[in-house]
Amino acid sequence: MQRSWFLLVTILLAMLATLFPVGIGVFMAQLEANRRESEQLSIFADAAVGRAEAVMTQALNALLDLESLRDEPCSPSQLVEMRRITYTYRHIQDAGIYRGGKRLCSALLGPIQADQLALPPPDWRTRDNLDFWFDQPNPFAAPRRTLLIGRNGNYVAVDPQNFVDVVDRESRRLAVVNTDAGRIFAVSQGASLPRLQRAYADHAYGSGGETLRDDDASIVLRRSRTMPLAVLVLAPRAALLANWKALLAGGLLVGLAAGVPLGILVWRRATRRFSLEGELRGAVRRHEMAVHYQPIVSLADNRCVGVEALVRWRRQGRLVRPNLFIPMAENAGLIQQITDQVLDIVLTELGTLLRRHPSFYVSINVGVEDLKSRRFLGVLASRLRGTGIAPGQIRIEATERGFLEPDVARDTIQAFRDAGHPVYIDDFGTGYSSLSYLQSFKVDALKIDKSFVDTIGQEAASSTVAPHIIAMAQSLGLQIVAEGIEDSTQADFLREQGVDYGQGWLFGRPVPAVELAQLLARATPQAA
Ligand code: C2E
Ligand code: MG
Ligand code: MG
Repeated sequence: MQRSWFLLVTILLAMLATLFPVGIGVFMAQLEANRRESEQLSIFADAAVGRAEAVMTQALNALLDLESLRDEPCSPSQLVEMRRITYTYRHIQDAGIYRGGKRLCSALLGPIQADQLALPPPDWRTRDNLDFWFDQPNPFAAPRRTLLIGRNGNYVAVDPQNFVDVVDRESRRLAVVNTDAGRIFAVSQGASLPRLQRAYADHAYGSGGETLRDDDASIVLRRSRTMPLAVLVLAPRAALLANWKALLAGGLLVGLAAGVPLGILVWRRATRRFSLEGELRGAVRRHEMAVHYQPIVSLADNRCVGVEALVRWRRQGRLVRPNLFIPMAENAGLIQQITDQVLDIVLTELGTLLRRHPSFYVSINVGVEDLKSRRFLGVLASRLRGTGIAPGQIRIEATERGFLEPDVARDTIQAFRDAGHPVYIDDFGTGYSSLSYLQSFKVDALKIDKSFVDTIGQEAASSTVAPHIIAMAQSLGLQIVAEGIEDSTQADFLREQGVDYGQGWLFGRPVPAVELAQLLARATPQAA
């Protein structure tokens, strides 16, 4: 990945890692604000329903008292009784008698002149013959309205404000609904009736427990369990927002506390990789690579016929194994420079040995990028010119990863072979690539991967793979090198199977050039 892209992606990731918990914090604050508001609305609605039920109960009891009077209707003694009733029940303003659409007398008004106070047909009649006039004029104060409840010619009057007279510092709006008639008959001061009617219509079919929120308010409807009554509470949105803002600071703080360390962690992780890549870049520029050599032996007589060159990174006084940095080098576009440097080191360190022993060879591992062009072949040719080293002494190890574009790889591999460099397929069988390339292009040898050699002599299913690979290579006329041989059982088995060459700790570990020279001198005195 290019540096600038990498930085951009890292910054984005770190920002995401920071913002995600902050977002969750804000979201939680909102949830909590909603939860608290619902809770408060619910408590308030319960209190309001209790109040409305109490007022209604008084009205009904007053009516019962009125019905139980035995005196002559509108007689002076009955008027006294009616005054006693209005005085007894705090919420009752008046109690009276009506007949055929006319009020006859009441506690407050005394005897009423004929036709002076007509009573229209009731707005609602219940199954037990209670009549409701939800909105009658008050005979004393024109703008104030009265709720009348009557039965069998007796009525009581209640000021609807009594139903909604609940003290509230939060200025929530209230409405009391007769749920049978579907009619709002009391609203708190300052409330808009059409707004409350709309809210009731939205709620009417719900169970009534939950809080509904729309653009400007949170609304809850609470039904009475004992009467066809319900209370609608409407809290302005501003209250919720204020509540939310108070919680937001806490949510933000928690979100930041989690998000910032997470963001830093992501940033560090990414840039550490990035800086390791930068370090590798510097190491390649300063030629800090070293090469170790591991013997490859002929299994027939354990004679060392060649070596594999294995790169090491000299980093802060320690040698880093290639598994840790070759993939990074491939990604960072450094692999070709590394291949070139390995070749230069090999020629410097083993030049004399190779010239003296024309049958001795060095295997060099090439990267994916090296198989995409003939560039490295050009480098090889120019470095070898005039050295007296034969092309066959420098062999090429390519892994199946390099065969993703088989046509390109085929050309490059053929060019190496045409120039006299034998080509080996490394880590054979582990590349997950289709083996079809074996039919379409020619190579000289297969290196059986250590993982298959490891299972020789074991019960594992994969222990049967090695013989198949060997048989296949033999039928294709390819040489075989077995990698990672660590004990003589493995060596014996491979030898019996007809494998020609082997490599592994049994014969020798990768060592620096100086040690290699000593090792070869001990093994075959004439080779040193
Ligand atoms: P490889 O080419 O398959 O090399 C064989 C690896 O197996 C080497 O690991 C070697 O030290 C290890 N090995 C050999 N015999 C035994 C054994 O008996 N037991 C065990 N446990 N290990 C054994 P190393 O040197 O760490 O190299 C790892 C890989 O890095 C190589 O696998 C090769 O793919 C890559 N590599 C090494 N040098 C270069 C290079 O110069 N260029 C490129 N492109 N890749 C390289
Ligand atoms: Mg190799
Ligand atoms: Mg290998």
